[in-house]
Amino acid sequence: MSELREIVIIGSGPAGLTAAIYAARAELKPLVFEGPQPGGQLTITTEVENYPGFANPIEGPELMDAMREQAIRVGTEVRIDWITKVDLSQRPFVIETSSNQTVHAKTLVIATGASAKWIGIESEQRLQNKGVSACATCDGFFFRGKDVAVIGGGDTAMEEAMYLTRMCTSVTVVHRRDTLRASKIMADRALKNPKITFAWDSGVDEILDGGTGKVTGIRLKNLKSGAISDHYVQGVFVAIGHQPNTALFTNQLPMDNAGYLITDGVKTPIAGCFAAGDVYDTMYRQAVTAAGMGCMAAIEAIRFIEAEESH
Ligand code: NAP
Repeated sequence: MSELREIVIIGSGPAGLTAAIYAARAELKPLVFEGPQPGGQLTITTEVENYPGFANPIEGPELMDAMREQAIRVGTEVRIDWITKVDLSQRPFVIETSSNQTVHAKTLVIATGASAKWIGIESEQRLQNKGVSACATCDGFFFRGKDVAVIGGGDTAMEEAMYLTRMCTSVTVVHRRDTLRASKIMADRALKNPKITFAWDSGVDEILDGGTGKVTGIRLKNLKSGAISDHYVQGVFVAIGHQPNTALFTNQLPMDNAGYLITDGVKTPIAGCFAAGDVYDTMYRQAVTAAGMGCMAAIEAIRFIEAEESH
C-alpha cells in the first residue's frame, strides 16, 4: 500500500507533536509516526515543573498524552509503526515501515530525538523515577537538601553536577577514569566547587535501595584497586551521554561525530526535510525548546509547500 502525504513527522515527543499541531492547523493533515518510545523522553521523567502553562506540576506522561490528544483533535493522524527506511534522494521522500507500508512525503520533519545512555545495570533500571534520573534540570528540584551522585566525566556530567549544587547538599561525581573528558572551563568550574567531590577511577556496581524501593546509596568499585565502597546518596543522575536517534539517516544527512544531525536551524541541507528537537540540539535539550523547534520546522514546511504550489 502506498500513500502520499503533505507532511510526515517522525517522532512523538514535544518537537514532533508541536510540529503536528501547527501543520494540522494549516490543513496539511500531518502523519506522525510515534516510534519506539511514544511521547519521547518526557515519558521517563516524573513531575514536570518547567513547562509553561501549568501552575501545578504535571507528570511527564500526562503532559505528553495531552499534547498527543491536542495534535489529534486538530487533525493529526498518529500511527504506531516502525520506520525501517527513509529515502531522501527522491521527491516526494519515500518512507517504508515494518508493516510493509510505503508513505510518500512532500515534506518531512525529523523529530526522532535522542535517548539517554544508561550504565546498563539492573538496579539502575528498577530505580528509574525512584531516585535514578538522566536529567538534572528535570528532576533536580526533587532532591533539595539531599546528597546525590552524578555518573560521568563529560560536559553533561559537569553541567548536571553544577546545576545540582544549587539545591543539593552534596554532589559526588563518579568517573571511571582519573581525568575528566569535559572541556577545561567546565571541568575547572566543577573541580573548584566546594559542594562537589569526585570519586575517581570508579564504576557503579549497584544502586542501593535498602529494601525501600527508593535510592538510598550507591556501591562503587575502584577500577584500579578493586575496592568496593558504599556511599549514602538519595539521588543518582546518570550523565554518560545521549545517543541521537539518527540511524535512519546515515549517509543521507550530515552528522557530527556523536551522530547528531548538522543543520542550519531547523533546515537540513535537503530541501523539504526539516529537523526539530534533540536530534540536533545538544545545547538546550528541553521540552519547551524542542516544542519551539517543532513549531519552527512546521512553519518552514508550510512555507515550503506553499512556495512549491505557487510555482
Ligand atoms: P561525552 O562527552 O561523550 O562524555 C560521556 C562521559 O561519560 C565520559 O566521561 C565517559 O567516560 C563517560 N561514560 C560513557 N559511557 C560510560 C559508561 N558506560 N560508564 C561510565 N561512564 C561512562 O558526553 P556528554 O558529556 O553528554 O557530551 C556530549 C557532547 O555535548 C560533547 O561534545 C559535549 O562537549 C557537548 N556538551 C556541551 C555542553 C556545554 O558546552 N554547555 C554541555 C553538555 C554537553 P570516558 O571519559 O572515560 O570516556
